[in-house]
Amino acid sequence: MLRHPPLVHSPTACRGQGARRRSCASYAEAMRESELHVADVPQSAGTGAVPAPARIDELVAAAHARGIEDRTGTVADYIPVLAEADPESFGLCVADVDGGLHEIGDSRIRFSIQSISKAFVYALLCEEIGHAEVRETVGVDNTGLAFNSVVAIELNDGHPMNPMVNAGALATTALVPGATPEAQWDRIRDGLSRFAGRPLELDDDVYRSETATNQRNRAIAQLLESYGRIRRDPAGVVDVYTRQCSLLVDAHDLAIMGATLADGGVNPLTGEQVVSAAVCRDTLAVLAASGLYERSGEWLFEIGLPGKSGVAGGLVTVAPGKAGIAAYAPRLDAAGNSVRGQVATAYLSRALGLNIFASDSHYLRKDQP
Ligand code: GLU
Repeated sequence: MLRHPPLVHSPTACRGQGARRRSCASYAEAMRESELHVADVPQSAGTGAVPAPARIDELVAAAHARGIEDRTGTVADYIPVLAEADPESFGLCVADVDGGLHEIGDSRIRFSIQSISKAFVYALLCEEIGHAEVRETVGVDNTGLAFNSVVAIELNDGHPMNPMVNAGALATTALVPGATPEAQWDRIRDGLSRFAGRPLELDDDVYRSETATNQRNRAIAQLLESYGRIRRDPAGVVDVYTRQCSLLVDAHDLAIMGATLADGGVNPLTGEQVVSAAVCRDTLAVLAASGLYERSGEWLFEIGLPGKSGVAGGLVTVAPGKAGIAAYAPRLDAAGNSVRGQVATAYLSRALGLNIFASDSHYLRKDQP
């Protein structure tokens, strides 16, 4: 007979916080009250629609003002050219599913999409070959380890676990149809451009800088090849992946890309159905579980929306059926997520009533005038 081990509650031990280890209670307190600066913002519950455009504009301005006060975090420098970003840059944009744009600050400064590309390449691949094969090869579970972890691959017998970590993203890119890396690249650039509603271009400086320093991704690709998870030349896969990460976007592009995932795969500006509604649902579920690196659980707990961040400082969040929210601010937290982006998005999730877990009592309100 199976016996459950006795429950041991240790208030001081909180596994999984790595170097930031502290008690669970104090971690949650710090995260919720001071780091995101939203303790005073009333939690609204969504009613199926976002407020009128003028009200969204006001709240976007308030979210930006809230985020700009935060000067914590550091700009990524492990890809050398990223260190040149202006740490003060901060742009914010909400794109609603009717094509309404609400933007402020540096929402038209371009930066490399980095890991955010993983979400959209995953969606395109599911559309092309079906989610079953992608799920089998790549998986959908959080690793709980860093995005570029080699240990996670070994711990899972060569399974990449999910498409939002580098191993899973490389395995995803490897599955993109195309006889050559060049053909795969054309397909990816075209697909991401259809999400954005305009032709996206490669940042050659970022591509070169990352190519010169991406030994770890090359090692991951070779390890995946040894496990039979990549069935192409791993060097070609890393090259296509590095290019997809080097595509230039701004916060306004990312908001439209997010709004496309929010609206059943239809781009709100061009009207094009880029992927199916089912693919959007699958992609959003993966983002909810793993979109913000090792902080994905904290993010979902506090913001309650699927999102994806990238090390250049981009952050896209999706309110299903309602809007895409995007931020650009290059100072990152220890996990690699834009600090100001998180603060502003937390504010908007509450103020616009977007948190998909927010609960409100219909019963108590029904007799109110
Ligand atoms: N191109 C980056 C890498 O593979 C993406 C990292 C990220 O944004 O998380 O290291």
